[in-house]
Formats: sequence, C-alpha cells, structure tokens
Amino acid sequence: MSQRAPSAGEDPIRVLLVDGSPSEERRISQLLASGSGSVRFSVFEAPGIEAALARLVDEPFDVVVLDLRLPESEGLNTLERAKAVATSVPIVALADSDAEEEGLRALRLGAQEYLVKSRLDAHTMARSVQYAVERHRLIAQLRATREREHFLATHDALTRLPNRCYFHDQLMSAISYAGRHSRKLAVLYLDLDSFKAINDNLGHPVGDTLLIEVANRLSSIVRRSDVVARLGGDEFVLLLQDVKQDAAAEMVARKVNEVLAQPYVLSDREYWVTASIGISVFPRDACDPDELVRAADMALYQAKRMGRNNFQFYSEKMNEAAKARLSIQRKLHVALERNEFRVYYQPKIEVASGRIVGMEALLRWRDPDRGLVTPAEFIPAAEETGLIVPIGAWVLRQACAQTRAWQEAGHTDLRVSVNLSAYQIDDGSLRETVVRTLWDSNLPPTSLELEITESALMHNEAAAIETLREINEIGVHLSLDDFGTGYSSLSYLKRFPVDTVKIDRSFIEEIAIDSDDRAIVGAILSITEHLGLTAVAEGVETLQQRDLLYASGCQQLQGFLYSPPVPVDLATDLLGVGCLVPATDKEDAS
Ligand code: C2E
Ligand code: MG
Ligand code: MG
Repeated sequence: MSQRAPSAGEDPIRVLLVDGSPSEERRISQLLASGSGSVRFSVFEAPGIEAALARLVDEPFDVVVLDLRLPESEGLNTLERAKAVATSVPIVALADSDAEEEGLRALRLGAQEYLVKSRLDAHTMARSVQYAVERHRLIAQLRATREREHFLATHDALTRLPNRCYFHDQLMSAISYAGRHSRKLAVLYLDLDSFKAINDNLGHPVGDTLLIEVANRLSSIVRRSDVVARLGGDEFVLLLQDVKQDAAAEMVARKVNEVLAQPYVLSDREYWVTASIGISVFPRDACDPDELVRAADMALYQAKRMGRNNFQFYSEKMNEAAKARLSIQRKLHVALERNEFRVYYQPKIEVASGRIVGMEALLRWRDPDRGLVTPAEFIPAAEETGLIVPIGAWVLRQACAQTRAWQEAGHTDLRVSVNLSAYQIDDGSLRETVVRTLWDSNLPPTSLELEITESALMHNEAAAIETLREINEIGVHLSLDDFGTGYSSLSYLKRFPVDTVKIDRSFIEEIAIDSDDRAIVGAILSITEHLGLTAVAEGVETLQQRDLLYASGCQQLQGFLYSPPVPVDLATDLLGVGCLVPATDKEDAS
C-alpha cells in the first residue's frame, strides 16, 4: 500500500475508483480529469469491493474513491472493509443522497471526505480528492512528529533504550498484570564498576560508545517480553516478566555479568568493564514500582560493597542498613558546624630508638545519640554525600595547626600524616586546599604526609597521579596506605611519587604464625629498601611481631603495642615522654 506523499505537478495522484456501475465510473473519471487544473490524476477502476481489496493489497494508491453502495456490500460496511485493508490510504466516500448521520459516521470511521454524487461537479470532485490526499499526508506527518516526540520523551537519546520515566510506566503495568495473574517479576538494577574512570580518562565520546555497546549487549540477552532501560549515567535496569523462581533471575544476572565482562574495543584498544547488580522480586520485596526499584538499588549497593562484578538479592537487612546509613548521612550534615568531630593521633615509632617520628591523624565522630563512632562507619556515608571534602579539609586544618604547635613546643622534626579519600583527590581542589592549609598553619610542607590507599588511586588513576605529583612537588610526602591489599601494588610504586609504604595490618596480624605472611612482608621490605622508600608496619600489637619486623628490616612501627590513637592531650603527653617503650605484650600476658 502506498505510503508515498503525492506531489502536485510531478507524479499524478493515483486514484482507485470503486463503483459498481460502469457508467458512474466513467462519469467520475471524467469529472476528475476535467476539474483537475494543475493536478493530474491516474484513475484505476475496481468494479466492486472484492476487486478493490485485491488491488489495494498489490498496488500503491494515493487515495481510494469509494462508492458506499456496491452490489456486494452496503453502506458503512463497505467503508469498514476498505479501511481494514487500506490502513494508510485516505478514502473519499461517495453517497447517493445526503444522509447527515451516515456522513458523520463515515468520517468517524476514517473517511477523509463524504460526497453526495448528485451534487458533484468537476471542480468539487477534483478538489475534494486532492484535499483528502493532502489532509491525509499532513495528518500522517503530524502523527510521525508526535511519535518521534513521544519516543524522545520516553527513550534515552544515546542508547535508544526506554528512559527512567517510561520504565516506571512499564513497570507499573507489569506489576498490575503480574498481580492479577499471580505472577512474579524481577528488577535487576545494574551499574558499571569503573565507568567514571573510562569516561574521565578516555573522554566522553568513548564513554558514550561504551554505553551504547552495553545497551546492545543487555538487549541481546533478554527475552522480547522483558524490558531493558537506562536510568541515567551508567545505570541500567532490567525488568524480567514472569519469573518463576529466584534461580531464573539469578541466571539472567550471571549472564549479564558474563556478557558485560567481555572486552570492549574502544579507540582501537581493548578495555574491560564489569557490572554490579542488585535484584528485587515482586511481590516478595515490594509491590510498588518505586519501592521495587529502591529495593534493587539497595541490593546493588550491597553488591558494590561485596567487591563488584557480582549480584545480590534484596533482603530486609539491607533496608535496615540503608536506614541507618541515611540517618548517619543526615546527622553528618550538621556534625561539622556542631563541632562533633575530633582528631585522634596515633604515634609512629622508630623501632631502634623508640622515638616518635610521626603522628597519624585519625578522625573520630561523637554522635550525640551513640557516642564515639569509628571512621569505618561514617566515612563511606561522608563519601556518598560528598561531605568528605569539607570534613577532610577540616581534618587537614586541625592536623597541620596541631603539628605546628607541637613543633613550636620543641618537637621540631615531627611529621603528621593525614588520610585522604578518593573523593577528595577527585574533587579538583585538593592541591589548593593543601597549599592554603600549610600556609595558614605555617607548617613546612615536608612536615605533612598524605596517606592514600591503592583503591583510592584506582578510582581515577591518571588524574589522581597527576594531582598527587603536583602536591608532592611542593614537598609534601605521600604514603601508600594498607599496602598489599589492593590489586596492582607494585606498579603504583613505580608510577606514583611515593615516599612511604604502610604494610597492611592483615599481614602483620599473623606474621608470627603464618610463614606466607612473613614471606610477603619480607618481600615488601626488600622492594621498599631497593627503591629507597620508608616502610611502616601497621597494627603492631605484640613484642613478637615487633621483633620479627625489626629483624626483617622494618624501621618504623605503628600499633596498639605502642599506643592506640589518642586525643590531643594524651598525644601531647606521649610526645613529652619522648621515647615509647611497649606498654604491654598481649601474648606474654596471656
Ligand atoms: P588506616 O589509615 O589504615 O588507619 C589505621 C587503623 O587501624 C585505625 O583505625 C587505627 O585505629 C587502627 N589501628 C592502629 N593500630 C592498631 C592495632 O594495633 N590493632 C588494630 N586492630 N587496629 C589498629 P580507625 O581509626 O578506625 O580508622 C580506620 C580507617 O579510616 C583508616 O585506616 C583510614 O583509612 C580511615 N580514616 C581515618 N581517619 C580518616 C580521615 O580523616 N579521612 C579519611 N579519608 N579516612 C580516614
Ligand atoms: Mg592511614
Ligand atoms: Mg592502613
């Protein structure tokens, strides 16, 4: 059937004229021919509805002129039959006499015109047909525009997947259908694990290409009845219809992890990206679209914390954890202005002399409801809200000012170390904050050390290394914290302007009983020695650990054996003592 737009002056308008009487047919053809003016018509004739329908299937026409009274079909029935086949061809209906009711109904059934044969003259006939064609074309154009607008409003322009809003509608209808038919649904909420790094390091066009590829891979593995949508950024969601058991959703989640983990070729190089997935199930976890997505999001949060590239089903416990997180986040917002933070200090000891060579600043929060809260509990929440940036700047100010005060009191070569979170490095204002704080506190740059974990570096490696290099150039020392627990420790030693390596507590803990840990610590010490770096062992609790570490060549220690992190006053007292001798030996005591 014809979809083409007839153009006056060029191609003639192809008319299919359907009339039972040959003489009438001839008369109408003549009317069209003589009244046409600049428009030309090619008239094709069909003697009855069956013949007309057959031609409409086979040939393209621009318009059908249809007599409603045909030998084998009567009235509006004729129109309905023609309309069923000629779905995209305008129809001009012809009637014997003017029946107002019939005329209106014909228009409602989709006819473009309703003409009374006896009143037709050449001009009216030709104009009516021409206008019907034109009107039909305009309507089709309008409809296409509306469809395009609807598509744009409901789909994501980049991946052409349904967007958040449309997904919500689809989920709503799926829930109501599943509810009526006692079926289950699963929502898989997924987020790419290192998209930000790709986007930042390779540029947005490459990031976009990756997202399109992810969208294609996701679409390729789901059933037709399932929905894949992009919620924004690197977040996608899958709606699985009629899920009989958790195992079915689990299988799809595994497949998603697998298919997304295949290499991506971007700018002629291969890249690997993984995804974390949270799963919620209707009606078990929630019955409302927003709640169901929220549950999947909470499960996603858990999947991220479980080390990424995996999936987690929602559980009620996650809801409680999320509530606790939210409550912490709310309280953190006012904690700074209410002066609820404290900086504790833990000394770093030179083993041979027992001298305190440095202090590590460790943040504490005095929650009015719960008392002292450790960083493990609130730093993730501070990172998620972005509050880590002002809080981190506050810690830096406190630590620098305090260290300057200690130096002025006679501890002239004391160095302070401050922990940094990845978000502070990403923030872009770190260098300026460090420079300004040093200036304000009058602390020499070499008296400050910044501790960074490998995972913080991995976040956005190139940019992080650049920022830290700039900071290192002004004389500030850099230290790799929790060394050995990350992924590519050794390569960081080469690319990162590091001065100190802090051997993670997990290796120290069992150093006396586990020969593997002993070997790892030995290897780290020999590498750092070769590279001319300082090694500090963290979490030293026993004399035995101290002796083993010292014998292996580790010169600096930190841990409960010497002192836990303590408030400023106590730290000042410790500095006053000068040399720290181990207070206890837990193993000896037991
Ligand atoms: P970290 O920088 O590796 O700090 C060492 C942690 O081990 C501290 O925990 C300290 O109290 C604990 N520790 C020290 N000696 C021993 C020991 O002998 N035995 C045991 N079992 N533990 C010991 P804390 O203070 O709870 O801090 C945990 C982590 O929170 C820190 O790990 C650091 O990554 C982060 N953090 C602390 N303060 C800040 C801060 O101001 N900013 C940022 N971004 N992170 C911070
Ligand atoms: Mg540290
Ligand atoms: Mg550490």
